[in-house]
Amino acid sequence: MATFRQRALNEAAAHQTGRFFVEEGPVSKYFGQNVFDLDKMRVYMSQQAYEAVLASVKYGIKLDRAYSNEIASGMKAWAIEMGATHYTHLFQPLTDATAEKHEAFISVKDGKAFEKFNGSALVQQEPDASSFPNGGLRNTFEARGYSAWDPSSPVFIMDGTLCIPSVFVSYTGEALDTKVPNLKSLQALSNAATSVANLFDPNVKAVSVNLGLEQEYFLVDEALYNARPDLVLGGRTVIGHTSAKDQQLEDHYFGAIPSRVNNFMKDFETEAYKLGILLQTRHNEVAPNQFECAPVFCEATKAVDQNMMLMIIMQKVAEKHHLKVIFHEKPFDGVNGSGKHCNWSMMTDTGVNLLSPGKTPDKNLQFLSFYASVVKAVYKHHYLLMTSVATLSNSYRLGGNEAPPAVMSIFSGSTLYKVFQSILGMNMMTESEAKKESIEIARSIPEIFPDNTDRNRTSPFAFTGNRFEFRAVGSSQNVASAVYVVNSAVAEALIEFRSEVDIQEAAGIDRSTAIMNTVRKFISESKDIMFEGNGYSKEWEEESARRGLRAVRNVPEAYEVYHEQQTVDLFRNMGVLAPNEVEARFEILNETYVKKLQIEARVIGDICLNHVIPAAVKYQNLLIENVKGMKEVFGDSYLEVCQSELKTLQKISKYINDISNDVEALVESRKKANRIEDIAQRAKVYSHEVKDMMDKVRYSADHLEMIVDDEMWPMPKYRELLFI
Ligand code: ADP
Ligand code: MG
Repeated sequence: MATFRQRALNEAAAHQTGRFFVEEGPVSKYFGQNVFDLDKMRVYMSQQAYEAVLASVKYGIKLDRAYSNEIASGMKAWAIEMGATHYTHLFQPLTDATAEKHEAFISVKDGKAFEKFNGSALVQQEPDASSFPNGGLRNTFEARGYSAWDPSSPVFIMDGTLCIPSVFVSYTGEALDTKVPNLKSLQALSNAATSVANLFDPNVKAVSVNLGLEQEYFLVDEALYNARPDLVLGGRTVIGHTSAKDQQLEDHYFGAIPSRVNNFMKDFETEAYKLGILLQTRHNEVAPNQFECAPVFCEATKAVDQNMMLMIIMQKVAEKHHLKVIFHEKPFDGVNGSGKHCNWSMMTDTGVNLLSPGKTPDKNLQFLSFYASVVKAVYKHHYLLMTSVATLSNSYRLGGNEAPPAVMSIFSGSTLYKVFQSILGMNMMTESEAKKESIEIARSIPEIFPDNTDRNRTSPFAFTGNRFEFRAVGSSQNVASAVYVVNSAVAEALIEFRSEVDIQEAAGIDRSTAIMNTVRKFISESKDIMFEGNGYSKEWEEESARRGLRAVRNVPEAYEVYHEQQTVDLFRNMGVLAPNEVEARFEILNETYVKKLQIEARVIGDICLNHVIPAAVKYQNLLIENVKGMKEVFGDSYLEVCQSELKTLQKISKYINDISNDVEALVESRKKANRIEDIAQRAKVYSHEVKDMMDKVRYSADHLEMIVDDEMWPMPKYRELLFI
């Protein structure tokens, strides 16, 4: 009788490769065709309405409701021409996913059918907030939540539906999503960065954040995926013995892309291009069946929205190819996990990248000011930053001997590192000396090109020539929840920077000396966050502890950072989150952690009782029959002859007993934890007791996998998931 696994393997072998989404002609011909961008708005709406949207996009000016009917009717006309039948507000609740509720355009009046979509439908929808995590921000008697169009993100068409990127807030106005705090943090950063940029150029009016998001993912054949309940329900394998070959030969990274995967990539790229997502790179990643794609960087809100869209498209397109995209950070033990490297920089409305070392000392003084402020921000909030990427799924990856370590640090590269050391070496000196020296230092910074900076892949926050790369973000995460922490922390530091300079100037110190003094002060206060060595080494673990840097070793324990005054003050003072919104997030994070671990714990129990033990018992019976036969043949000497079978039988019995005892203990530990009222406390117990029991169960199951007849093993093995 064929096992589930054998049927899946046959099915996988029969899957054909091909293309399903092919467009004629060069990409430029269809790029952005499914987006209602500014060019299309100009065609479909009046000059005034167009300008109102433009002002809102460019300068965040609130869109006048008077225009909403006109804008909606322009959108509707375009959408219907494009074949859309429905519309939806697409928002980003606190689940790391997107949410949508489709409404049909079609309406009937006096027996006559027509398409209806007016301004109020565009501006606002009322999804039931009670079905989304809200951390106590919603009273049970007031379940309403509001979603409203965010005009800084253009609407687009996906699968015949007009999608309206929206914010999601409670009835009383608190943010229930990741978009609202992100938008607010961008505003705070723009204000603070503009005031520092004005020290150098009074013409700067706004500063935006640019993001380039590198997305890593695994691909697994759909038939094999469906034969693994753990992948289907929890996105990761909870048992599975490592494959004899995995990434040790280092032959996958940048290797030739298999043609089935290549076809898939071309197809989702085509769909992404139509949505105006400028994908630029694609390649194999370190682990087998692991890949990466990256768009060209763009403004932060757009980059976040496009990344969320990209993840949806990839999953949809994969269906056609009988593939499953896995965004989980650590689907397989023993091979590298996936991240979403977040390349972050600041750009003025005059087109200057504030993190780009310039050609003149003056430009470099500006660069140093912004660099020092980032260093200060990351130092002060290093634990919060690391916690902003701490989820259950990312915790399987973080702090292991791969991907980013558990403790935050900044890597600057040797050139800059030397510059900072000489800045720190500057002693107290007379004003004219200091001025001369600081200009010298600023002059000494060569132009650093992103391509020739030294790379340090062990640093969670690395400078790469004209941007920082926050490398600890998880592949499945909505990056906004990490980005608004960076933005807020940097905004806070920049405000302090400007005020330090102002105080000195008021005391009669000239501007460039005041700036250089402040750069030196910031660097000297925060130098402990700077580290150029191997972030995975034992020495750094000890050294970082000596420096007082706090590591995230346990996720629910790290969440306590949201209760620290420094965190609450940061979000409140930057106008990003009110204290009750921070508290709500704390609750939701803990709740999500518990729920996800609960699913994993249930799945491992089910798999072991319903798949693993029955297979082991079957094999055990086969061995017993064999031993009985041997006894008939060899008589009393069978004990000698069957030594190996008997030993195996004993091992199997031991593992079966262990598993059933441990699964029972696992269920008990879950029940015990579930009785704890306080969610944060419950999460902590889960993170220790429930997780420890899962490890024990897995240990026995993985050993059985090594013993039981391959033909009888019920679920696809690592070598099949990773190499087919
Ligand atoms: P690597 O893997 O070497 O880090 P990739 O080419 O895969 O490089 O990804 C780099 C990402 O950084 C791209 O998305 C790119 O557009 C983005 N990027 C480049 N310059 C900037 C910048 N100034 N600000 C933000 N992102 C940037
Ligand atoms: Mg990178």
